[in-house]
Amino acid sequence: MTIQDSLQQIRIQWMERVSRELARGEGVRVGFVEQLERFYDLLEQTVVTGDTAWLDPILYDWGHSPTETNLEQGEYDVSFIINRITALTIEVTRDTLNDKDGLELLAAVIPIFTHSLSVVVRYEMETRVAHISSELNETQEKLQELDRNKSNFISVAAHELKTPLTLIEGYTTMMVDMVEQSDQLQINSLLKGVNTGILRLRQIIDDMIDVSLIDNNLLTLNFQPVWISHLLNLLSNELKKAVASRKQTLVINQFEGSDLMIYGDSERLYQALNNVAANAIKYTPDGGTITINGRLLPGFIEITVTDTGIGISLKHQATIFEKFGQLGRTDLHSSGKTKFKGGGAGLGLPITRGIIEAHGGTIWVESEGYDEVKLKGSTFHILFPTRTEATDPLITKFFGHFEQQKQKLETENSGKENPPTNNPSA
Ligand code: ADP
Repeated sequence: MTIQDSLQQIRIQWMERVSRELARGEGVRVGFVEQLERFYDLLEQTVVTGDTAWLDPILYDWGHSPTETNLEQGEYDVSFIINRITALTIEVTRDTLNDKDGLELLAAVIPIFTHSLSVVVRYEMETRVAHISSELNETQEKLQELDRNKSNFISVAAHELKTPLTLIEGYTTMMVDMVEQSDQLQINSLLKGVNTGILRLRQIIDDMIDVSLIDNNLLTLNFQPVWISHLLNLLSNELKKAVASRKQTLVINQFEGSDLMIYGDSERLYQALNNVAANAIKYTPDGGTITINGRLLPGFIEITVTDTGIGISLKHQATIFEKFGQLGRTDLHSSGKTKFKGGGAGLGLPITRGIIEAHGGTIWVESEGYDEVKLKGSTFHILFPTRTEATDPLITKFFGHFEQQKQKLETENSGKENPPTNNPSA
């Protein structure tokens, strides 16, 4: 019998045995049998022509087929498949052909399998090296980004601190002159200027402290009764001046749930709402509208802050809640709290998220994208639980743990007093 005939003769058993073992061992893959049929056809061509290049295309496909997940989890080893194919071919040959035909067949195909193995290992290695180097590139980019953020932060923080300092410096110098000429009225207005500078400095330093508290899970909440409508009234009062100076309209709607008494840290919640609303003013051109709305959901209150501003690109939507996520945009930087596009140190939203999450809530943004001409606007959604008891989740957690420990101790102690017995009713 020719080698070609032998190959034809064992084809059905080979196909059945190899697909059964490999489809099971490697996870059933769609088209796996088709792949084996193709491999077998090419193997026959190789035997007939004596040219191993026939198998190259399929080996190339196999060597480059591992997916990202396969590579990350270290599974899917193509050389393993070729090794098993070799072993199974020997088994099927032994079971199907006589010794002579079997030996001749194996003498012809084993060198082809060995060649295939070396080719596939090379292709597989190429895939793995490409995967590792793309991972390395990604890590390097992340490191570079971190480094950029770090130096940007230093420059923005220095700038943030310098503005109020310059203000204080200027006013105090003028005060010294005034005192010398003792003009009481002017001193009063200068003192106000000094105060503004001090206030701004305090806000920046407070923000830095808040971020570090949130970062280290040290933000403690002072739970007390809160009404959202009350917080929104305060907010409306505080923002009145800024809204008027920017010729904007601030619409605050009453909604179901805004008058509900819930428990939360009112100061922190106010801070969070203020950050989002002040941003809405900042990133909306003069004449725009900021609308605060909300609704009651089962177990939650949702507050939305919608503006008709410049919007946020998809890329930035993913980073604005990250610390210094926006620092790359030093072009948007300004120390004005409500000046158009007056970006700050990029700490407001991370702090807001930290506060909302500490309450067991969540915050996200929706925007059709950044466009300073079409002004697609943004909507920030704040969702937090309508907690009706004054318990801090951390305290609940602590007491839950404490209760568990107590019960464990009690069980252990009762075990000591009453030695184990075989009587289940004892
Ligand atoms: P910043 O001090 O820079 O305002 P935030 O953390 O408060 O820092 O906001 C982060 C970034 O998110 C801003 O720099 C801005 O690019 C973007 N952003 C926040 N709110 C809005 C909004 N309402 N419209 C457009 N962009 C916004």
